[in-house]
Amino acid sequence: MAYVITDECVACGTCAEACPAEAISEGDGKYVIDADACLDCGTCEGECPTGAIVAGE
Ligand code: SF4
Repeated sequence: MAYVITDECVACGTCAEACPAEAISEGDGKYVIDADACLDCGTCEGECPTGAIVAGE
């Protein structure tokens, strides 16, 4: 299950640089994770300064 970015995102881009799968891109006001590309590695969750990234259900 892919990780998801919540509304806590401040669009800093830190997660996009950290993602080994390049699954994160800038969306409308916040960043978004491509569920098909996400490897479920959790790297982005630890990098986000606002704790906006959570494991998907
Ligand atoms: Fe990228 Fe890993 Fe985060 Fe998925 S869990 S978006 S592969 S950094």
